[in-house]
Amino acid sequence: MTRRNPWLIPYQRLAARHGPQHWWPGETPFEVMVGAVLTQNTAWTNVERAIANLKAAGLLDCAAILACPDAELAAAIRPAGYFNVKAGRLKALCRFLAERGVAAAPERLAGQAGQAELRDALLAVSGVGPETADSILLYALGLPSFVVDAYTRRAYARLGLLRGDESYAEIQTLFERHLARDVGLYNEYHALIVRLGKEHCRPRPRCPDCPLKEICRHAL
Ligand code: SF4
Repeated sequence: MTRRNPWLIPYQRLAARHGPQHWWPGETPFEVMVGAVLTQNTAWTNVERAIANLKAAGLLDCAAILACPDAELAAAIRPAGYFNVKAGRLKALCRFLAERGVAAAPERLAGQAGQAELRDALLAVSGVGPETADSILLYALGLPSFVVDAYTRRAYARLGLLRGDESYAEIQTLFERHLARDVGLYNEYHALIVRLGKEHCRPRPRCPDCPLKEICRHAL
């Protein structure tokens, strides 16, 4: 991977501007997994309130979630939106962890199988799509699975590295093919892309102050 790698240059520029992002916000691998489910279709500030409720209720624990009545769990995560659906998804994830025998230590999932097999198993859990599965693999289990999201698609289409109509898998393959297979790099890169999407490459882009404006085809 040379310094002129067009897939690495945005990372270098974003990292130079913003520094380490210290992702994922979560004190334990299980909290990261819960956050990865709760963050679907909502802002992170709402997830933080839902996780605070779970902590206060003693529910940030796989066995506790499985034992909790559905309505009670849904009420605790209400701030995250779609709370009935997400309560079901959290229970499905916890059932999966329990069936794997890792309810008490979900991080042990990483040692149970190869990354591709674990990813397939996660994708088979109700409500876990590619972005959630990859977030769990990367940020909870420390495995090199690049996370793609809407911010990635929008910014990299504007940069000229994507057409914008590629599938999730195609975009992930492009990143992984052009980057060293490095958990730390994947971790920081996705976090920096999220920051780019929130601060600069918004639906109405704020190009004049963007760290990528000199390399962007779409820069205004
Ligand atoms: S220069 Fe503008 S369009 Fe390009 S990445 Fe930055 S904010 Fe997005």
